[in-house]
Amino acid sequence: MKKIHAQAQKALELMLEAQLPPTPSNYEFWFHYVTKSDPYLVAAIDELRLKNQPIHAQTISKLRLKFFGVSDIDKIDNIVDKTSLEIEKLSGIVENAGGDARSFQSALQDGQNILSRSSGHDEHTSLLDQIASATAVMSERTRKLEAQLAISSQEVAALRHDLDKARTESRTDPLTGLPNRKAFLAYFESQAARSVADKYPISVLFCDIDHFKTFNDTWGHRMGDEVLRLVGQSLEQLVSGLGYPSRFGGEEFVIGLPHKDITAAFDIAEQIRDYIATKSLKSKQSNKSIGRITLSVGVAQMRWSDSVETLIERADKALYMAKEGGRNMVCYEAPIKTISQNSEAA
Ligand code: GH3
Ligand code: MG
Ligand code: MG
Repeated sequence: MKKIHAQAQKALELMLEAQLPPTPSNYEFWFHYVTKSDPYLVAAIDELRLKNQPIHAQTISKLRLKFFGVSDIDKIDNIVDKTSLEIEKLSGIVENAGGDARSFQSALQDGQNILSRSSGHDEHTSLLDQIASATAVMSERTRKLEAQLAISSQEVAALRHDLDKARTESRTDPLTGLPNRKAFLAYFESQAARSVADKYPISVLFCDIDHFKTFNDTWGHRMGDEVLRLVGQSLEQLVSGLGYPSRFGGEEFVIGLPHKDITAAFDIAEQIRDYIATKSLKSKQSNKSIGRITLSVGVAQMRWSDSVETLIERADKALYMAKEGGRNMVCYEAPIKTISQNSEAA
């Protein structure tokens, strides 16, 4: 209890220190940081704090989107949906009203014509004239309203288009063009549910570039970015039609492989590792060779008791084994022992 109190206090202090308005969502954000609920979020904020970079509202909004999938875009999208529905309904009503006004106008016109042919009905004719001109005004107003609503619905369509673009951007890693972590998690959630329902295996590969810090230190950050793009493209080609590659963070790529059990996933990981390790890298600027890079990969297969997080955690553990084993290596999670295996071993 004491610990939670201290954490809550700390979250409040950090929020105020960052000079953010004390809104529930700002507080929630810092509470996640203090309780270390997501190591990637903690690392991202620590990096900013280390560089003394201000953590203003926009940064928080981006981080929230990246780590919690809480997207302002999704909220706005909801509003746009509702607005466009209302406009559609209104358009329908106005269109009907316009139609009614027009038929009324034409009925009046017929009446006027009949009366003008017969004599001695001046009073009626003038009354009809008044009604006809009032109806014409109403009809004109309705026409303008229809035009206005048509413009509004065009604006909503443009807004929806911008939102779609923003949503795609929010799910894409800008450096490599691959889906980002948020997109991967959304994809995998739905794939995992389908694999359980349809009883097929699904696996993940957790790939991490070896000694990438040293690479950056040797060749510079820009060349590092170049390599990340290259790895991204290679993964996209290598698993094209087989799985879903994503840039999970920094120099880490996670690939979802539906319909692949651990053995098949291991083979794919091995092909990827081999391809990257044997590819010689060249600087685009100087056209000189800059050696090679290698990948370590951890492989894990989804179990019925898994959440996406526990599965990725096991793939990460397997990756750690590959790093410990000397890097440029693929390791898979420890196999589950079945009862028969246990009794055989006994
Ligand atoms: P290991 O083999 O244990 O994975 O070593 P490592 O150096 O790859 O791992 P470490 O976690 O120590 O360092 C990761 C490096 O990745 C540090 C960081 O500068 C680099 N990195 C992360 N994101 C980017 C990026 O967007 N561009 C570039 N150029 N480098 C990045
Ligand atoms: Mg790493
Ligand atoms: Mg690394």
